[in-house]
Order: sequence, then structure tokens, then C-alpha cells
Amino acid sequence: MRYEEFHRRSIEQPEAFWAEQARAIHWHRAPDAILDDSRPPFRRWFVGGETNLCYNAVDRHLEARAEQLALVTLSTETGLTREISYRELHREVNTFAAVIQSLGVGRGDRVVIYMPNMAEAVFAMLACARIGAVHSVVFGGFASHNLALRIDDAEPKLLICADAGMRGGKVIPYKPLVDAACAEASSPPAHVLIVNRGLDADLSRVEGRDVDYATLRTQHEGAEVDVAWLESNEPSYLLYTSGTTGKPKGVQRDVGGYAVAMAMSMWAIYDIQPGQVMFSTSDVGWAVGHSYNVYGPLIAGATSILYEGLPTNPDPAIWWQICERYGVRTMFSSPTAIRVLKKQDAAYLKQHDLSALKYLFLAGEPLDEPTAQWITDGIGKTIVDNYWQTETGWPVLSLMPGLDLKPVKFGSPGLPTPGYNLRVINDVTGEDVAPGEKGVLVIVPPLPPGCMTTIWRDDARYVSSYFSHFKELLYSSLDWAIRDADGYTFILGRTDDVINVAGHRLGTREIEESVSTHPSVAEAAVVGVHDEIKGQVPVVFATLKQGAEGMSAVEVAAAMQKRVVEQLGAVARPSRIYVVNALPKTRSGKLLRRSIQALAEARDPGDLSTLDDPGALEEVRRALGRGA
Ligand code: ATP
Ligand code: MG
Repeated sequence: MRYEEFHRRSIEQPEAFWAEQARAIHWHRAPDAILDDSRPPFRRWFVGGETNLCYNAVDRHLEARAEQLALVTLSTETGLTREISYRELHREVNTFAAVIQSLGVGRGDRVVIYMPNMAEAVFAMLACARIGAVHSVVFGGFASHNLALRIDDAEPKLLICADAGMRGGKVIPYKPLVDAACAEASSPPAHVLIVNRGLDADLSRVEGRDVDYATLRTQHEGAEVDVAWLESNEPSYLLYTSGTTGKPKGVQRDVGGYAVAMAMSMWAIYDIQPGQVMFSTSDVGWAVGHSYNVYGPLIAGATSILYEGLPTNPDPAIWWQICERYGVRTMFSSPTAIRVLKKQDAAYLKQHDLSALKYLFLAGEPLDEPTAQWITDGIGKTIVDNYWQTETGWPVLSLMPGLDLKPVKFGSPGLPTPGYNLRVINDVTGEDVAPGEKGVLVIVPPLPPGCMTTIWRDDARYVSSYFSHFKELLYSSLDWAIRDADGYTFILGRTDDVINVAGHRLGTREIEESVSTHPSVAEAAVVGVHDEIKGQVPVVFATLKQGAEGMSAVEVAAAMQKRVVEQLGAVARPSRIYVVNALPKTRSGKLLRRSIQALAEARDPGDLSTLDDPGALEEVRRALGRGA
């Protein structure tokens, strides 16, 4: 099918278009109306329809593919691999649902899940979906304070956790964090359900509150739990944004719209048919993990691979080994992860038979051209950059090999996906900018199915965060973009990541991209730092590739500066360049430019609740102290 026709129809006749897409899922009761847009910016899809995410992800496949693998969980931390068929998944999810029901959880109740990438995390999510409970997965390993904040926002009846996570062979006990979070929270859960992997020898339990999954599982094994048929617009789950620009927002998702969007995106964007294999390297705690490790592949009747471990352990070929072993067709990862591999020998990319692999999708952060080129050459596959947000739940911009694959343009995540009516507008006037000119990327409402319905219990923040930036009622992505004459969109970074040098507005991303073309550079972060004369000047923090450390920092810095001046002009010339061993990032792998900038301006680094490695922030602090 042709992309243009498909997309045009989704915009011009949204109700007819989505009614067609809705046939891909099972409805217990057909919708009365496809769209209720009477109260913008809120909108309701498939009004009156009744369905269930777990039924669509599991039960529905029993007839045709009970023995097919539904889920493979693979851990290079514990050494455990589990291959789970749809029949087994059905059994495990029913048991899990019976267990959480026995703890008093029912329709509409919230359940916080705090687990690493392990099979029970998926069982727990689907068990909640089955009985109509609202899950809120909190990325495992977030500090107890973050967990407490999310507990207080969701007010869960139950918290499900693992005894511990592991990272690079090191055990990270979760239970003490859970205990501290419950002590800090003002609405702690009545019960904590522990899935014990036997990693934490000192695991302690709170009498009356804590229960072991293994014990309850034996009691409920073989139970069949009725599916709760939910109205399409009831909440299915809550999920927080990464917190790159400030306090994370609690995104609320619906049931029917999300199921339909998942089903459509799986074939149209990721080109996955029932029975094929998708491997997403995300953590279940992120939006990609929810949509493309759990709901998308399972709703599509595909096989999903969930990996726990580092991309470099036991060696940097581990992902490609997995691709070979399971015949992965579509792989999904992030530019950040590829830059980790880029520090390693490219020979690792060539060790395995990747003949089944067709696409590597990357999302989450701008994909710089050198990284895109490196991985394209290395694995010889089509690399598809796709742009989306936790809020949207699935891609906004991508190339769509399931429709027809347009040529890749490095640096661009491609074209609007079906249902997204996008404009690029001037941030002040709100007028559309000409092709090639920079503006803010906005979505013309109604947001398509699958996108957030509101911020949990905070409709006002939903409107003020996203819909109050322009005279017209438009969803602001809060990202800068350029659309070229062919309709390809380029993302230039966050609207608050702009450097104003003597009246010239430069995107941090453009300078980062330029710096990254230097062969020694692994990754770069550029921030605008206050300057008495020019207003702001660009300052670069860069990590170098392995083997490049031998070069003197001064040499590399001079070479980077030269490149920026050649490529972007003297106005973009970095005033200072710091070589560091690590850059501060969020737990989801996004550069924390606002914190780097704050340190560079001798300010407080701000909300660090989502910071991954405090050592990286220290690196920046030290580098600034050292001067360059
Ligand atoms: P917060 O909203 O809490 O500040 P966040 O925006 O980092 O955090 P996410 O929803 O995880 O939270 O990230 C979405 C953002 O990531 C996008 O708005 C965009 O800035 C960036 N992004 C995602 N994919 C791409 C991509 N392919 N190219 C460029 N940027 C991307
Ligand atoms: Mg955001």
C-alpha cells in the first residue's frame, strides 16, 4: 500500500480510517461512535466500545498460535533464558491475575510495578490489564524518593517488585528501596508482592504487608480469571515522561485507542506480521518497552524479545547473537545504545548471521549522522530513525516499510505516521514556516488513538503543558523542527535547548551533530552558557572513542572547533570544549543538557531525580573546575 494515500486518508477521513484499523483487534462490544471530539483538547476514541488489552495480546492468539513463542526473556546478568509460548503466557498471566485479585486488586485500582526486564514484569502488566487494574511501571533502580513520588501520584493498592536487579554483574537490591519509598510515601500500598529471584540474601519482609509471589503462585496455579471488558476510554496504564526538561509528567493511556494504534503500527511502521520476531532493547519501564516489548508485538501475534543486561556483556556482539539465534526481523534500540557500541571494535557487528534482520529502528534522541552511518555500514541493514514521545505512545515520524519504504535521509526521522496531522510553525506568530525553515513541531488535534488521554488526575496540567502555547488549540511537541521540500522532518532539539549567540538562534543539536563528525568523538553535549557580551555562547562536553584517548585534549578540541566553524559558521564556534569520560543522562539515556548548562553557569543542577549516573555529573563539575 502506498504511504501517501494511507496517510492522507487518516487525516481527511479520520473516522472512516480508524474504524477500519479498529477491525484488527477484538471488540467485546462494538463502539457506538469512532470519535467524540466535543470537548477539545480532550477527545475520546471508539466511544462505548468494550475491549481488553490482555485479551488482545494473549487469549486471542490461542486458537491460531498457542505453541508459538510469545515472549523470550534473556538475561546476561542472571544467565537465565525463558522461552514462553502463547499458551504458557496465557497460563502465567491468569495465575498472576488470580494472585493480585487475591490481594484485593480490582478494576480501576492502581498497581505500581518496580521490576527489571524479566518475564514476571510482563505477566504483571498483562495481569493488571486483564482485570482492569491500572499499572504504573516505574523503571527499576530509580531511587526510593522517585518511587515514593510515583506511589503518591498513583496511590496504588499493590506494589509488585523483584528482590533485586542486576547491572554489569552487580546486584542492586530493590527491596530496601521499596521499603524506604513506602516509608516516605503518604499513600503507601496495602501490599508488596515480591518476585524473589534469590539475588538478595538479606531480603527482608514486612509482616502483614509483604507477600511472596512464589507462595501465592502455587496456591493459584491453573486459575482462570475472567477478562474485564473495559470501555475504550477507561485508563489502562500510567507512565512517566523521562524528566529531561523538568518534573516528569504522569501520562495516562486508554484501552481501545491504544490497542488499535499498537496493531496498526506493528505492520505499517515496524513491518511485523504475526509469527515474526521483534527485539526491542528497551527497558519495560519506558514507553518503548510498554509499546514494543509488550503490547505491540503481543497484540500483533508476534514474538517479543526482552533483554536484561548491558549491550557489551559478555561481549559487544551479544545483541547480534540474539538476532541470529531467534531470527529477529525488526530490531529497536536507541542512538545512545549505538553510541555505546560505537566505542567498541566494529568487527563485533560482523560476527553473526543477520540474514533474517531487515530493519534497525532507533528512537529517543536525535540520531547523528556519523552514528547512523557507522551502524548502517556495520550491519548493512536499513536504519530507521523514528521520533515520538512518552505522551504519544507510538511514532509520530518514521519511515514505514510496512507501507512502502521511502529513501532514508540521514538526520531525519522521516514522514508523519498515519493519524498525525503535523505542522511546523513559528514559535512567536504561530504561522506555518516555509520548507527548510525552523519552527516548533505541533500536532493538530484531535490526537490520534494511542496518545495520552490526559495527565493522571491533572487535566489542567495536560492543557497547560501541551495545548496553551499558541493562539490556536495545538499540541506542542516542545521540539524544534525543519520540514524539507519532500516533507521529511528534521528534529533540532527541545524548544528550551536553543542557544542565542548575539541574536543568532542556534540549536544545540546542530552543533552536537557537527562536533560528532570528528572521528575521535563518541558523543557530545552542547549547551548555551551565559556570556556578558554575546548573551550566550556554545560550550561543548564530549566523550571520545576508545583508542582516541591517546590524542591530547587540546588537539581534539582544536579540531572540533575547526569543524564547527567550517560547517556552521564562526557564530557557532564553541567558546570552550571539555573532554569528559561520561555525560550526564536520564535513566532513559537522554542527555541532561539543562543540568550541564546549570553547572556551566555555576547554578544548581535542578531536579536530578531521573539522573542515571551521578559520577557523570561529577565529571562535568570536575572538568569545569579544571578549565580548558
Ligand atoms: P520530559 O518530557 O519529562 O522532559 P522527555 O521529553 O525526555 O522528558 P520522553 O518522552 O522519553 O521524555 O522523550 C521524548 C523526547 O525525546 C522528544 O520530545 C524528543 O525531544 C526526543 N526524541 C525522541 N525520539 C527522537 C528522535 N528520533 N529524534 C530526535 N529527538 C527525539
Ligand atoms: Mg518530553
